[in-house]
Amino acid sequence: GGGAVMAETRSTCPYCGVGCGVLIAHEGGQITGVRGDPDHPANHGRLCTKGSNLHLTATPVVLQHQRLRDPQRRATRGATPEPLSWDTAQREIAERLLAIRAAHGPQAIGVYVSGQLLTEDYQAFNQLARAVIGTPHIDSNSRLCMSSAVVGYKQTLGVDAPPCSYEDIELADCVLISGANPAWAHPILFRRLEAARAARPGHRLIVIDPRRTETAELADLHLQLRPGTDVALCHGLLHAMLQRGWTNASFMAEHTEGFEALRAEVMAWPPARAAEVCGVPEADLWQAAEWFATAPASLSLYCQGLNQSRNGTANNAALIHLHLATGQIGRPGAGPFSLTGQPNAMGGRETGTMASLLPGHRDPANAEHRAEIAQLWGVPELPTARGYTAVEMFDAAARGEIRALWIVCTNPAQSLPDQARVREALQRCELVIVQEAFAHTATARFADYLLPAATWGEKEGTVTNSERRISRVRAAVPPAGEARPDWRIACDVAALIDAGLGRAPRLVADGPEALWRTHRDATRGRDLDISGLSWDVLDRDGPQQWPYVEAATPRLYTQHRFATPSGRARFQPVPALPPADALGPDYPVALTTSRLRDQWHGMSRSGTVPGLFAHEGQPWLRLNPADAPRYALADGALAGGTLAGGTLTDGALVRVQSRRGEAVLPLRLDAQVLPGSADIAMHWGDEFLGAQLGVNGLTQPAACPDSRQPELKFSAVRLSAA
Ligand code: SF4
Repeated sequence: GGGAVMAETRSTCPYCGVGCGVLIAHEGGQITGVRGDPDHPANHGRLCTKGSNLHLTATPVVLQHQRLRDPQRRATRGATPEPLSWDTAQREIAERLLAIRAAHGPQAIGVYVSGQLLTEDYQAFNQLARAVIGTPHIDSNSRLCMSSAVVGYKQTLGVDAPPCSYEDIELADCVLISGANPAWAHPILFRRLEAARAARPGHRLIVIDPRRTETAELADLHLQLRPGTDVALCHGLLHAMLQRGWTNASFMAEHTEGFEALRAEVMAWPPARAAEVCGVPEADLWQAAEWFATAPASLSLYCQGLNQSRNGTANNAALIHLHLATGQIGRPGAGPFSLTGQPNAMGGRETGTMASLLPGHRDPANAEHRAEIAQLWGVPELPTARGYTAVEMFDAAARGEIRALWIVCTNPAQSLPDQARVREALQRCELVIVQEAFAHTATARFADYLLPAATWGEKEGTVTNSERRISRVRAAVPPAGEARPDWRIACDVAALIDAGLGRAPRLVADGPEALWRTHRDATRGRDLDISGLSWDVLDRDGPQQWPYVEAATPRLYTQHRFATPSGRARFQPVPALPPADALGPDYPVALTTSRLRDQWHGMSRSGTVPGLFAHEGQPWLRLNPADAPRYALADGALAGGTLAGGTLTDGALVRVQSRRGEAVLPLRLDAQVLPGSADIAMHWGDEFLGAQLGVNGLTQPAACPDSRQPELKFSAVRLSAA
């Protein structure tokens, strides 16, 4: 009783990979406020607009009208879903999964999870998919987010481990930001960067981005490259460093390998050619190369601009090469540092809850690794087939090969590329289970079963932020309605499936801490070893960076011994390939997608706060004002570079067509956008755009061959008056 006493619970912000600590104020089972945790090392008490409005995503009105509160079932597709009990929902789901498994094999079932799940939820779903159902087809929406960074690290440094710490932002003399807009997407890190620049005379900031973002505005040098030319630019920078003797020959000789195989690629990109292809002044390229190579400590920060590309892995490798060639790694303030998009994309990588990974940074194609995990989980074996990655899984469903999809904490009917195909897949599936905290996502409309999930403020577990720091997430209030934690739903259905198969339960956990311990045990002896860590240590000492055997590790590779068999970091002979979608007379404009300051992804959470629309209330097609006369939309057709009557003005409705679909959006002329390209914010889906599919009706599924991350950041489009 006596619930009316105000209390504060220490937890973590659920939005971005910065991973800020929050204190949740609550009274009588209701969240009433939020403030930054002054003791959390990521944010030292600060929060951005999204974080500081979190309590408004948990008001009584939101809990009542926006949250999914009961398990529900649709009698038929398109029907209004009807509530049913947890017992009935879970029994029916287990029976239907067992029937599909019996008729078509376990590989007819796909599980699609999320970088917003907690580590313990990931652990439960990984075991449910691979050990209980027996399907290799489990992947995470982190596929759309960090998979190119994962493979980029593995190819060059040996393992998927970001080597730096946030404190390196304060310790760097030169910061190079590529394909990221932290001023909006990682605001608290950007505040730290601004403070560092103010405190450090002679600090250099270089920003590589096709848009002149708020981040680029602060830079000493903005290389406004053409979309999709990142590898050419990095090769040009490395070429300049080699030509002027700015590389660190002894570091390269002692600590790296593979440069000879890369040399021909780099020699093909003299700065003059790279500058021309990338559309940047050659002098700026030389200047950037000099600053980066000769600063006492250079740090790079990068995100989706590099990752969401058919060259995603090459983009990452080409940037990491700059560190390897100059020895800018393994020292305070120096190193390549991928910024995580989602709050716990790192946890999905650590627990191996992706088609291309197994727990503890293991490889599902490696028989020994599979055997180690099977033994740890107490099952005879793990599936041997290669699992489908996100886009492949929905393709397989569209072909009828995958017949059941269990979708957890993500909204693929908005966020995957080539929406027409994704919706075909969801329609064709025999069984679609959507497990969600919010009731009105686009994907929820395709669900046969809707399972209400507990969310921020209501559940216990851990997340890992961009700097490998594990923080506790804590429950302040009970879940909305009948909602339950994600891990528990997985465990309950797993028990029913095992019972149906007449065998002992394979996924037994009395709570999230038990699941976390199973994860911890999988890291023993691996690069991310957290065998010295426990929830008690996290409670006592606060958030900690992995690896943690006896103590936390703020920085990796300080001895310049890398995680490769030889101990040397590896240059990769990556070519500079064009984007998959070719520009041409029919589709002459390069469309990029971007994030806004106050919204998060598909807006299922941030969209519940009216005030967060004050910064930007609707989606726009953004074009550079210099392009207005060129596109001459008034006569209803794109005039391909000549003025054909009429000039574009703000607010004009523009039809944007790609090779896959179209959208009609109002125009906003915006000098941030590179002439010849266009930009649409990624957040709005069809619930805001009527019958339209949102920006991902236009984007394409072509992916990096190594990371399988789709090229969301480049679509060839044409424009006409709507
Ligand atoms: Fe939350 Fe990211 Fe903002 Fe921090 S920077 S408050 S983690 S959204």
